[in-house]
Amino acid sequence: MLAEVLNNVGTCIFTKDINGCYTYVNQAVLDLLNVNLAEIIGFDDSQFFDLALSQQLKKNDQKVIKEAITVENEETNFIKVLQETRIYKTVKKPLFDDKNNVIGMCGVSTDITAEKKLQQIVKTQKKLLHTILDNVDAYIYMKDNERTFKYVNSKVAELFGTPVENIIGKKDTEVLPLDVAEHFNKSDQQVFDTGEKQTIEETSEDEHGNVLHYISTKIPYQQQGELPTLIGFSTDVSELYVLKEEFKKQANTDSLTKLYNRRYFIDHAEREFHRAKRHLRILSLIAIDIDHFKDINDSYGHPIGDQVLMSVAQCLLPCVRQEDILARIGGEEFSILLPETTLQSAKVVAERIRLNQSNLIIKGEWQGEIQVTVSIGVTCIRFEDDNFNDFFTRADKALYQAKNSGRDQVFCW
Ligand code: GH3
Ligand code: MG
Ligand code: MG
Repeated sequence: MLAEVLNNVGTCIFTKDINGCYTYVNQAVLDLLNVNLAEIIGFDDSQFFDLALSQQLKKNDQKVIKEAITVENEETNFIKVLQETRIYKTVKKPLFDDKNNVIGMCGVSTDITAEKKLQQIVKTQKKLLHTILDNVDAYIYMKDNERTFKYVNSKVAELFGTPVENIIGKKDTEVLPLDVAEHFNKSDQQVFDTGEKQTIEETSEDEHGNVLHYISTKIPYQQQGELPTLIGFSTDVSELYVLKEEFKKQANTDSLTKLYNRRYFIDHAEREFHRAKRHLRILSLIAIDIDHFKDINDSYGHPIGDQVLMSVAQCLLPCVRQEDILARIGGEEFSILLPETTLQSAKVVAERIRLNQSNLIIKGEWQGEIQVTVSIGVTCIRFEDDNFNDFFTRADKALYQAKNSGRDQVFCW
């Protein structure tokens, strides 16, 4: 009955005498070595395995027998019938007679080749995953809904200025300044509240006080028997952010004078016009055109004309307030939008500009000094203005009047 059981288990079970010769093997051993009982009982491992392996097995056996202890080993055996190497977990125990003398040993060998292969695959994959996670140019982390870090990659550790093992298992409030932890936690909570992926822009400060910008994607990740968790991927986009801001600025700036350009002015002025109409606020507009500018170009050449344009623009700057918008609208034309400013006050500004320009002496790497005058049209918003163009054109008409009245004039409409 017992023999029946032993013969039907897949595990190899055997006993050996003190010389390492087999005294019993179950069916699994016979199958594995492809022998019958007569071919194995009384023989040792040298009959079945190559020299190196049988000597190693013998050494393990001797340890069990000489020291009378249980030995657990992983044995790698080349199995001739299978023509392949298999890994066994072998437990060998000494066998005793009545007087407690060791008379042999009993062994149980379980084939763990498949398990080992699986372990190796898991190990390789884990290594691959860590290599990727630690080398990807993103901050990657896992956090549960009690704010405990379950995982961080090495980039996160670098950012926090402490080793990975000092972060995992800790709450964000333990490793980050409180305000930063709160800032991150806000979007973390959104993930837990909605159970949905969130993509957000986040900011933090480096040790020099520079603002860093991140694009963060946070996804919910629930594992059985664990607290709700999220996985976050944050990419530092600070450089891109600066670039984007720079592009935005460039798109709004006149390259010669560095004032706002026409596009920005019209966009902004149109919005201000509608806001003023809606809230019944006052809004004024000044249009400026350099007198006889063509003559400057003709006498000095276009490049010097450009320098004059820059000087005129510089001279306009001190005349406008923070809330005013000064722009180069076209060739030698400029506009100023003055929110919350009456026609009277705008006229005062225009007069100051006209005077400043006529007193401006422009010197450079050319013979003599250049002086220019400007003509200026001033208008303010009216109840009957249907659209921005009505308002904008009126300033131009005023400017035309100033030109017609002899130039170097301010004309209000
Ligand atoms: P008015 O008093 O009637 O305004 O005379 P004006 O000569 O200033 O007027 P007009 O519009 O005939 O000429 C404007 C000149 O401005 C013509 C053009 O060559 C010059 N101009 C336009 N843009 C630029 C620029 O970017 N650089 C230079 N140097 N000249 C420019
Ligand atoms: Mg002009
Ligand atoms: Mg002109």
